[in-house]
Amino acid sequence: MKNLKLLLLTVILIGCQNPQTKKTMATKKIVIAHRGASGYLPEHTLTAKAMAYAMHPDYLEQDIVLSKDDVPIVIHDITLDDVTDVAKQFPDRKREDGKYYVIDFTYSELLRLNVTERFDTKTGLAVFKGRFPIWKSHFKLHSLQDEIEMIQGLNKSTGRNIGIYPEIKAPKFHRNNGKDISKIVLKVLSDYSYKTKKDNCILQCFDATELKRIRQELKSKLFLVQLTEFKEDNSKLAEFAKYADGMGPYFKQLIKRTDPKTGTIVFNNYVKNAHKLGMVVHAYTFRADQLEGLPSFEFLLDLGFNKAHLDGIFTDFSDKAVAFFKKQSH
Ligand code: CA
Repeated sequence: MKNLKLLLLTVILIGCQNPQTKKTMATKKIVIAHRGASGYLPEHTLTAKAMAYAMHPDYLEQDIVLSKDDVPIVIHDITLDDVTDVAKQFPDRKREDGKYYVIDFTYSELLRLNVTERFDTKTGLAVFKGRFPIWKSHFKLHSLQDEIEMIQGLNKSTGRNIGIYPEIKAPKFHRNNGKDISKIVLKVLSDYSYKTKKDNCILQCFDATELKRIRQELKSKLFLVQLTEFKEDNSKLAEFAKYADGMGPYFKQLIKRTDPKTGTIVFNNYVKNAHKLGMVVHAYTFRADQLEGLPSFEFLLDLGFNKAHLDGIFTDFSDKAVAFFKKQSH
């Protein structure tokens, strides 16, 4: 009798567990805060990350470039020109191409810089006109460790479990400058307990050779996403699936054609093919202030999730994407 009860309980538990696991893996749609709440505050600042966290996305994104003394810095470009006052503070530290590289500055030097909303260095004007005004308030660069500690701290204080989504930037450039960025980043991730696919961390990279190396040579067990930018990559999914768990395409890579009469967007088989290969697809970048002729941001989100069948999106406006899901689930 006791055994029968146990058997029944086991059957029920197994019966419950399987669909649930499947649901999390296959149908859970995720929102990734692209460079933090970058639609509202200067990208990649800790302030923008705290605001993004409060919007409750599933992941916060970190782009990573190394300093001269090997500190992983959260910044999008390998140069400092477009988001800091480096040209004012260190006028004699530019390279021959006229640019200031993160890798030429120590961590303590980088901390002296002021960070602002992204601007065009030629005109001095903001790239996104409707966003946070340039050169206002007080923002700084920070290390990957600082950001992880803030996210893990918020996870503790709020009881949530929001993940990190770091990107290894320009591994070849780092190697040419004598640095192994992947090794350094993997060590930091491991120090903060991001080691396997269960650890709420997704590691992304555009460089396919490097991401393959991260899996095969550096033996990472993390969830890996291969980023792509061009339609030429659409035919290489089977190759990427050998080491990656997911794909991160530019959203336009997924569009087959737009009907010139009706404006209807027809998608290609990218997402379907990736799913067949067991990979998820997280596309970039969904911006409410860059709609390129589409009627609304909700329309774009509907295209991404309900028409293209994406598993996740990178967005500068996590609040709007999270609200879109809430509305859909009602
Ligand atoms: Ca990125």
